[in-house]
Amino acid sequence: MARYTGPSCKLCRRENVKLYLKGERCYKEKCSLETKPYAPGQHGKQQQKKISDYGTQLREKQKVKRLYGVLEAQFRRYFEKATRTEGITGEVLIQLLERRLDNVVYRAGFAGSRKEARQIVRHDHVTVNGRKVNIPSYSVKPGEVVQIVEGSRKHQRIVESVETSDGRGVPEWITLNKTAFQADIVRMPERTDITYEIQESLIVELYSK
Ligand code: SF4
Repeated sequence: MARYTGPSCKLCRRENVKLYLKGERCYKEKCSLETKPYAPGQHGKQQQKKISDYGTQLREKQKVKRLYGVLEAQFRRYFEKATRTEGITGEVLIQLLERRLDNVVYRAGFAGSRKEARQIVRHDHVTVNGRKVNIPSYSVKPGEVVQIVEGSRKHQRIVESVETSDGRGVPEWITLNKTAFQADIVRMPERTDITYEIQESLIVELYSK
């Protein structure tokens, strides 16, 4: 599966928003967006020109794609699925992204970032309802139980993430049992559960042209 392998902090600086791509560093003063709060590149410090409606929509789409670590083709497929699903398209799109297994592993605090969560899933450290699932895009459902496999519960990165993730909080649609490294999906994520500044209507406008 293709994935972005370039510098993570440049993505935040391009979108001028924290995308939380580097784990603990994102919550500290050395976050690059705080030390270099301007766009990357030679002209990054120059004042930005007025951005068009299309440009605003495009940036919002790029921001959300990068936040969840999804490439264009897959993001488009999520959008198409959202248009075929009952509900408000933009909200369904965000819900589909939140339900990704790598996002759940991150949200539960088993990983410091979604990128790390993807590796944890890919490397067979995660079960869903007791069965190993190594597909980061797996879409969780209410009633399912996501758990770190017993042999991986001493894995240094996972233990460190669990110990340091308290400040992030766990969304209400997930119930966390830290000692069992277990996250129960108690309901579907709702739009109000997602506290990032996302204007999903701009993405819908962009793709509806
Ligand atoms: Fe983004 Fe984290 Fe880098 Fe800050 S440290 S710029 S939030 S990836």
